[in-house]
Amino acid sequence: MATNGSPELLIVMASGATPDQTEHVLARLQEAGVDARVTRGRESTVIGAIGERELLATLPLEGYPGVEQVLPILKPYKLVSREVSPDPTIIDVDGRKIGDQFFGLIAGPCTVEYREQTLETARAVNEAGATWLRGGAFKPRTSPYTFQGLGEEALVILREAREETGLPVVTELMDPRHVEAVLDAADVIQIGARNMQNFMLLAEVGRADKPVLLKRGPSASVEELLMAAEYVAREGNERIVLCERGIKTFERTTRYTLDLGSVAVLKHETHLPVIVDPSHATGRHDLVAPMARAALAAGADGVMIDVHPHPSEALCDGPQALTPDEVATLGAELSALAGALGRPMA
Ligand code: PEP
Ligand code: MN
Repeated sequence: MATNGSPELLIVMASGATPDQTEHVLARLQEAGVDARVTRGRESTVIGAIGERELLATLPLEGYPGVEQVLPILKPYKLVSREVSPDPTIIDVDGRKIGDQFFGLIAGPCTVEYREQTLETARAVNEAGATWLRGGAFKPRTSPYTFQGLGEEALVILREAREETGLPVVTELMDPRHVEAVLDAADVIQIGARNMQNFMLLAEVGRADKPVLLKRGPSASVEELLMAAEYVAREGNERIVLCERGIKTFERTTRYTLDLGSVAVLKHETHLPVIVDPSHATGRHDLVAPMARAALAAGADGVMIDVHPHPSEALCDGPQALTPDEVATLGAELSALAGALGRPMA
């Protein structure tokens, strides 16, 4: 029996089905009290039918004109799966796109520390060809004794950086009590690795009218990441970017172990864009560029990079930060590589 309205069946319309035939199926589903979700794909139109299995079983779905196939959705994730939406999703913020052919460079300070540090970094990443600007205001720190971020003061600085550069801002939301303030400043809401399974927070951003950048928890499986994304999508917000940022293993030479295999798996399983954060994954500035290039080659839709004008003085994650010069070089390399792969940096 279906629980909590999970989509149970995929109704695949024939490639020659008319819009009227699709409407007819939708009307029958509605009459029966079954919710439906339509995806008009390049190849064909697919309807996800959401309702009790027993109720769905009473409908003669296969007999409706234009219906080619009726299939159960077998994966535990539904709305985010490729089965339900075969075409890749593009996240477009003010014309700056990530997903499908568009490869994105998200770059900026790990943490907003002070106005000049952030503005200088924002100018540098803009010059380097960044798509979106990152910057933490509320920081999830392992130790309660380290810098926790400037909070609302940082949001004011990020707003100024966006006004000056035109770059959409990605910043992390840690607490539902900050949702209004963060939504006011952010173009994209980041859910950090530590909060990947904070289900209340996921539902909160699922009700927001802004894209969500969801980072993989360091101990979370790929399936758990997809289920976390499903929590967001289920509330109505399907503008989600997934981010691989390294997982915990026995290896000690890098901060985490960058799991690039997950990128290829995710690209297979979901229509959502998948990006890689080589900064947090490796914790080493010398490994950021090679892993960013590898991410692009592995099929990622973008990378997220920490940048600081003076990494040795950074209050957070200095060892993994690129300088403005280094991000300029990386931006040029990625743009050339992405171009060669037919994936413009937008
Ligand atoms: C970050 O991107 O600012 C961050 C804290 O990363 P993560 O959540 O992946 O640790
Ligand atoms: Mn960091």
